[in-house]
Amino acid sequence: MSPRRARRMDPSLGKDGRPLRPAEDALRGSERLESAPDGDWKVRQVSGAAPGKLYRCPGCDHEIRPGLPHVVSWPAWQGGESERRHWHTACWRKRMDRGPGRFRY
Ligand SMILES: [Zn+2]
Repeated sequence: MSPRRARRMDPSLGKDGRPLRPAEDALRGSERLESAPDGDWKVRQVSGAAPGKLYRCPGCDHEIRPGLPHVVSWPAWQGGESERRHWHTACWRKRMDRGPGRFRY
């Protein structure tokens, strides 16, 4: 008798064997409100930029490649949509670490 491998107990897999996704992925395509020390933001997770579109991430000042999942955020006040910025997901999360005066745009 060989010991059975408890493969289906893998914590990263759901009951049906598919990988569990972070909650934010479940919200893909819809906006959510994020309250942060630098204000309230609407954040939308996008699965990828349209081909031919190139955005520059304000967090790291590098381009976001077409097709790369990222976030779009804008201030959660009236007219804030015109301030939309495309961010690498990681850069958006880490923007608070950049220190005062740099984390907005
Ligand atoms: Zn970035």
